[in-house]
Amino acid sequence: MSAQILKSLGLDPVNSGTYLGHGEWSKTTDAGLLQSINPSTNEVIAEVHSANASDYETIIRRAQAAFATWRVTPAPRRGEAIRLCSDALRTHKDALGSLVALEMGKSKPEGDGEVQEMIDIGDFAVGLSRQLYGLTMHSERPGHRMYEQWHPLGLVGIISAFNFPVAVWAWNSFIAAVCGDISIWKPSPKTPLSAIAAMKICNDALKAGGFPDLFFLFNDAGTELASTFVDDKRVPLISFTGSTRIGRIVGERVAQRMGRSLLELGGNNAIIVDETADLKLAIPAIVFGAVGTAGQRCTTTRRLFVHESIHDDVLAKLVAAYKQVEKKIGDPTDPKNLMGPLNSRDAVQAYLDAIAQAKAAGGKVETGGAAIEGKGNFVLPTIITGLSNDAAIVQHETFAPILYVMKFRALDEAIAMQNAVPQGLSSAIFTQNLKAAEAFLGAAGSDCGIANVNIGTSGAEIGGAFGGEKETGGGRESGSDAWRAYMRRQTNTINYSDALPLAQGIKFEF
Ligand code: NAD
Repeated sequence: MSAQILKSLGLDPVNSGTYLGHGEWSKTTDAGLLQSINPSTNEVIAEVHSANASDYETIIRRAQAAFATWRVTPAPRRGEAIRLCSDALRTHKDALGSLVALEMGKSKPEGDGEVQEMIDIGDFAVGLSRQLYGLTMHSERPGHRMYEQWHPLGLVGIISAFNFPVAVWAWNSFIAAVCGDISIWKPSPKTPLSAIAAMKICNDALKAGGFPDLFFLFNDAGTELASTFVDDKRVPLISFTGSTRIGRIVGERVAQRMGRSLLELGGNNAIIVDETADLKLAIPAIVFGAVGTAGQRCTTTRRLFVHESIHDDVLAKLVAAYKQVEKKIGDPTDPKNLMGPLNSRDAVQAYLDAIAQAKAAGGKVETGGAAIEGKGNFVLPTIITGLSNDAAIVQHETFAPILYVMKFRALDEAIAMQNAVPQGLSSAIFTQNLKAAEAFLGAAGSDCGIANVNIGTSGAEIGGAFGGEKETGGGRESGSDAWRAYMRRQTNTINYSDALPLAQGIKFEF
């Protein structure tokens, strides 16, 4: 199966770890090998050569040269390049979606959905290429005009997590490309094949359309080159997606060199279900949010606050739904399965440790709570009750399908608990009460970057700006005006009068 998927994408993994530009893939063999492991079997799918320092320098040099011409290419023309990438991804959606499912472990529909997100952001970027608007302002001085314009920034460094092995790259690189930037990608060492495939599809499309190199890729078996990348002043923006632990290091180092960072870090997302909620909507949203991608989304629902009057009913319905999901855990490339494995053995251990810690703190496992015997990293989706929101394990993002269910009496109390975690990514309320919905969305409501009503926490659309507050890092990617992070703003004042009045009425006569 895996050989078939690689073949359908025309991949020769071992010889294609690093894209150097000019149609060349690195031949370096002295910088270590990355093994792509199938999380369903723990067997090696393929090995990929990592980049060395000389590859890295080649990439930077070629990316700088590419930027010199790309930044003066008209933005709508830049959009045409990305249109070719979206079209190529449409052609390869099934194969790339299968590879994402195989290598990352998400279900086939979710793998396909991830490729669809790439297509969608590509289409968005094409439109955006004609809408990189600046403002005009009224000058306080007669005969003067002020306006602002947005210029390309330069090289955009993208460091991505394993759980969205291709979409996060597209969110960044497609928007960066229409903004006139050249991007360099260091993907997760756990998902090198998906990265290589995405890069190859898009670079082939650009080449066929007569466009220059816009995207470069290097794989790093350790973190040495990644650290060099983070510290490199030639890369004005580092867009980092990953854990809060590593993101904190990256953010601090980029700040040290006065660079710009865009941080998309961990979440600890909650849903509030009040006494008026329509459970026909709430139950599937909670189950998808908590169990989808085996709990390995940054927007996964990890905490659930249920009004005490309906708590037992909601819990019983959730346990029944989880028992149905349990029957559909398995090979993620089989579209019949709803839940695949965790990505690594370490993740299974972290899941088991979290459950042990929850039990030690007085938690009760209502369903799940164990790994599934066998070669792969499969675990049972788990619901735990009896803990308070301030329990250490509830405050922590365990990247696994564990849902902590808690009761509340008054909405204020639920909102306060939902906000009382270090992270601030996604949040939701299920209610039919207009006042409750508006209170949740108001200034004293959810403190997250994403706040939804009658929709769960996961599965964001690309049209909105995506990201979160507090330890989630504060970055915004994807839609709305997130493109501004990839450009530099310039304020221009033009004097078309015959005088030289100074601002603020200052007189300077000599
Ligand atoms: P991770 O932090 O372990 O790794 C992320 C990336 O950082 C990888 O490419 C890794 O190789 C790289 N890295 C590791 N050490 C580095 C260093 N010293 N310098 C530079 N780069 C380094 O995260 P992960 O396990 O791959 O992904 C899961 C985490 O990502 C979760 O916390 C999840 O919530 C978060 N995530 C957040 C978002 C978001 O948009 N907010 C999206 C996806 C995932």
